[in-house]
Amino acid sequence: MRLFRPLFLCFLLFLPLVSHASISADKPFEAINGQVYFLEDAADRFTIDTVRNQDADWSRQQDGKAFNQGYSDSTWWLHTRLNNDSAKEVLRYLELSYAVLDYVDVWIYSGDQLVRFFEMGDKLPFSARPLEHRFFVFPVTWEAGQALDLYFRIRTSTAVQAPLTLWDRDAFERRENQANIAQGLYYGAMVVIAIYNFLIFIVVRDRSYLYYVAFVMSLPLFIASMSGQAYHYLWPDFVLWNDHSIPFFLAMAFGTSALFTRRFLQVREWSRFLNFGLAGVAAVAFTTLILSFVVPYRISIHVLVPLGLFACIFEMLVGGMSWYKGVNNARFYVIAWLSFLTGGVLLALNKLGVMPQNFITEYSVQIGSVLEAVLLSFAMAERINVERRLRFAAQDEALKVTRRLNEQLEERVRERTLELEKLNAKLEEMSNTDQLTRLKNRRYLENVMQKEWVRCKRYERDFAIMMLDVDFFKKVNDQYGHPAGDACLKRVAELVSQCIRWPSDQLARYGGEEFCIVLPETGEDGARVVAERIRAAVEGDLIEADDVTFSVTISVGVCVGKPKKGSVDDMLKSADLALYQSKETGRNKVTLYNQDKIANVAQLTVGNVKRDQ
Ligand code: GH3
Ligand code: MG
Ligand code: MG
Repeated sequence: MRLFRPLFLCFLLFLPLVSHASISADKPFEAINGQVYFLEDAADRFTIDTVRNQDADWSRQQDGKAFNQGYSDSTWWLHTRLNNDSAKEVLRYLELSYAVLDYVDVWIYSGDQLVRFFEMGDKLPFSARPLEHRFFVFPVTWEAGQALDLYFRIRTSTAVQAPLTLWDRDAFERRENQANIAQGLYYGAMVVIAIYNFLIFIVVRDRSYLYYVAFVMSLPLFIASMSGQAYHYLWPDFVLWNDHSIPFFLAMAFGTSALFTRRFLQVREWSRFLNFGLAGVAAVAFTTLILSFVVPYRISIHVLVPLGLFACIFEMLVGGMSWYKGVNNARFYVIAWLSFLTGGVLLALNKLGVMPQNFITEYSVQIGSVLEAVLLSFAMAERINVERRLRFAAQDEALKVTRRLNEQLEERVRERTLELEKLNAKLEEMSNTDQLTRLKNRRYLENVMQKEWVRCKRYERDFAIMMLDVDFFKKVNDQYGHPAGDACLKRVAELVSQCIRWPSDQLARYGGEEFCIVLPETGEDGARVVAERIRAAVEGDLIEADDVTFSVTISVGVCVGKPKKGSVDDMLKSADLALYQSKETGRNKVTLYNQDKIANVAQLTVGNVKRDQ
């Protein structure tokens, strides 16, 4: 625009120097940007008197757009002349709705007479303002038919902007009420969301909630700083801090949103590059945040605005990629960011005049950021839900594994127990068995003998014990050798086993070449038959051992009767005595001992069974 200025100035020569605009008495408000003339004072040398006499240098604001010079070190002067064409006195509020200007001085002249002078700006304490308002507002009174010249002197490190509106007092207050309710709702919503998420952070101790709280708080604080509300309500006396609050909260919003994005979308787990990028954004933002206290506002803003643009696009991209990768809740993140960006775009379109100015477009950023915060809060709560579901699933799985392991363990224990039982049985069997003849041994027999004896005693049954001894066995050993002796013993054992047929009869090798048989429920006749059968079987057998064949005989001693008193040992001794008797009386014999006569050993009933039969 500056290129056209000389041309424009020439054009101006043909116009009256300053057009006289009339204020309309019936409009509730009207923008007066189209009636504004401006003048650059690059060296900051002009005074009000100089500018009042420098009419030729004034440029006119074009197209009714608000005065906006961007960032400029110059001092800027604005001038407008407004008439009251009506026949009555008119009071208007003049509002300069850009809250962050450093210094705004206003002179009101009626002809050559200075009517009012105001000193405003956010470098001055809030209380210095003519009207306690977040923008620069002052009352102007026109007498009937009066024309007033208004001069503004603006000097600021922020962008040089001066949107000017003339308000009817009632309309101004109505607008204020509406704005206060809307802003109050916005700040209230954001504070509630921040507190809610902070409480969640205290409970779950996940840092992403903390970043989120900082982000949710920095957004409204930035908006409040920009709109002058923070200076009005939060820190009206802290002029120095007010100067830093805008870059501070802007940097904080960018930094915390990058940190939050990183954690919320678990970027580290799927892209080291993007994770690094987000950390970079956060690092630049926080560095700027600290530097904003020492470097001029203009520099911090010039770092933060492109950083913010980059961060927005970058985080949106990361959100989209994480959605594509199937990261939990990424879709909420994307929709939340979209609603915030939509708010920003709507506001921009509104400011550019593409969209009509209404409640939605005016507060689109606020609406967008509340929507974003609500959606993200929902996503954060959903995250807890998802984690809880995962934990339950993990617990369930752990339980299943434990159960399966327990079952396997039990099965193994069962198998081992069975093996042990088999082994024990085998050991028991081995410890009860004579290795040479494979018959039961003495230890086993004595055990069985005792039990059977007790049983037969209780039921008053017959009970027989038989002692068998190979005759002249020493000679077998001497004559044919020890292995032949062993073979002989095996054969005799075999023959004897074949001769006892009742399952309850128990045969054992009692020692050397001696055998013992326990026959429960067996009376004298039965015992005699069995003994004789054995004796005859052995006598009639030819024993083959290696290359020799020979035969042996055995002597048998039997004790039989109903157990009454004494012990089984007594019966055993009696059987032994009977056996001794068999040996004494010629061997290859059966001798029977009748238990009834145990008291008198001398009266042994001894008989050669063979002979008896
Ligand atoms: P008797 O008719 O009086 O019983 O004469 P005997 O030779 O059988 O006498 P004795 O009972 O004194 O001898 C038993 C012999 O049996 C003694 C021992 O050398 C032998 N002997 C004991 N156990 C075994 C064995 O397991 N194998 C062999 N080969 N011989 C044995
Ligand atoms: Mg013997
Ligand atoms: Mg013998």
